[in-house]
Amino acid sequence: MFRIRRFGRLTRGLRFRLTATYAVFFALILIGVAALFRQRLANTLDAQAHDGLEQRWAAMKGFLRIERSSATGRNEAFWYYDDKDADESRTVLAIKAVYLITDQDGAVIPDHMSKSRAVSQTYAAIGIDSADSIRARVAQAVAAAKPDSPGMEFWSVRTGPGGVNYLIRSGVVYDESHVAAVRHEPHYVALGFSLANEEKTVRDFSLFYLVVIPCALIVGSLLGWIVAGRALAPVRAVAQTAQRISGSNLSLRIPSSQAGDELDYLILTFNRMIDRLESSFQQIKQFSTDVSHELRTPITAIRGQLEVALFTAQTAEQYREAMFNALQDIDRLSQIVRALLLLSQAESGQLILQKAKLDLSDTLRDLVDQFQIPAEAAAVRLTADLEECPIMADRVQIERLVTNLLSNALKFTPEGGLVHVSLRVAGAEAEMIVEDTGQGIPPEHLPHIFERFYRVPTPGSAPPEQGLGLGLSFVAWIVKAHDGTIAVESEPGKGTRFAIRLPALGATPEQAGAGTIPGGRT
Ligand code: ADP
Repeated sequence: MFRIRRFGRLTRGLRFRLTATYAVFFALILIGVAALFRQRLANTLDAQAHDGLEQRWAAMKGFLRIERSSATGRNEAFWYYDDKDADESRTVLAIKAVYLITDQDGAVIPDHMSKSRAVSQTYAAIGIDSADSIRARVAQAVAAAKPDSPGMEFWSVRTGPGGVNYLIRSGVVYDESHVAAVRHEPHYVALGFSLANEEKTVRDFSLFYLVVIPCALIVGSLLGWIVAGRALAPVRAVAQTAQRISGSNLSLRIPSSQAGDELDYLILTFNRMIDRLESSFQQIKQFSTDVSHELRTPITAIRGQLEVALFTAQTAEQYREAMFNALQDIDRLSQIVRALLLLSQAESGQLILQKAKLDLSDTLRDLVDQFQIPAEAAAVRLTADLEECPIMADRVQIERLVTNLLSNALKFTPEGGLVHVSLRVAGAEAEMIVEDTGQGIPPEHLPHIFERFYRVPTPGSAPPEQGLGLGLSFVAWIVKAHDGTIAVESEPGKGTRFAIRLPALGATPEQAGAGTIPGGRT
């Protein structure tokens, strides 16, 4: 069972599939090439056999005479050659190894030289052609014969003793009886050529390939397996590292091979993904630490106040004071929980924006008016310079954004200071600036002020006065949800300047980016 599962896993593996595909293609190519070579070899050998037999036929025409025998008065086969000449003797012997000579009716004529019938043993074993077929062929050849044209030839392959195939070439030869007034008669002559050698060569070639192909396939597949293994080794390293990465060791990175290949790109992408995961994990961790810390402070305070009331308060006034303080802390607690809930809804996409056409200058004017009273109370001058500027936005969220910025500006600007709000159209965008002449933010804290619960520590000022540290997180989210940008400049002791850009009405995001003047501007 275990083995089957392991085998299943192996065959599903990329290395196996690569090797198998490669082996299949390799096998197909080997088989194709072998088949092609075999065919070419067979064709060449066949052509050679035809040539050989054709030469033998031509030689036969030189040595053979069919003449009337004076002894029998019948046509006989005479062979004219020099029997002292080894070449000639050998050639005639080769011709007569597989031969047949008959008259036009298919009757085998006598061979004058061997004093027997003009048919070799081998040819007899192959089977003498039937009288009908001989008659038909002779008639066909005689009918086709024209002066100066080659005689008609017949080719066939027939199986002889021991299963050996013979190439047979036959045709017509006329007798040369030197008897006046006797018409030369056509005779049927057939010569054979053993194909044993040719067939053996093709068979040997096939056998050789039958042995070579599996061997080449095994060696090729082994090489393929090794090469695929090497190519995939970095992938395994990536997988192993990925397996070791968990929430607690997100700092692990996969070492890059610096080869600049696809694998390197994969590793880079993977590492970037872990970067993002790590920072998200970090944020979540920080967030839970912050939340528990934020909640613990008012809870501890409430507990302290209640304990004091329980153990030390004696008068109704003291009880009232303790309960009042506890209530204040409970208010702060529920404020934190409400703000957190809203922020998490916003960031998880549950807070749907109700965007509508809105003249930002009207909204800002109303809010600046509302803030005049707290500004007066803080002895800070609040001024505004507003240009008409329509945008598509969620009124409630824009009011929340401006309220946060204004309350921060007032909170962090000392008596006699100035808070100024301005609004103007800048290209395809509405640019809103809230600046103050307050205490400013030290540069090292500037990158963090949009983080949740981040507050610039100010010695001597207790957390409740400082706020929750969530206001600017909201501001950042609202700007982002309206496809805008926010920038902050600050100098400690001199003041802070928040600049927000939101797409003006009628501007597409590209126009906004390019800074062109929108058509819908009034
Ligand atoms: P908070 O509720 O504490 O105001 P915010 O997220 O609104 O939280 O602001 C984060 C921190 O940024 C503040 O605690 C404060 O230190 C700093 N900050 C924000 N606005 C100003 C400002 N106009 N001038 C100086 N410091 C500011």
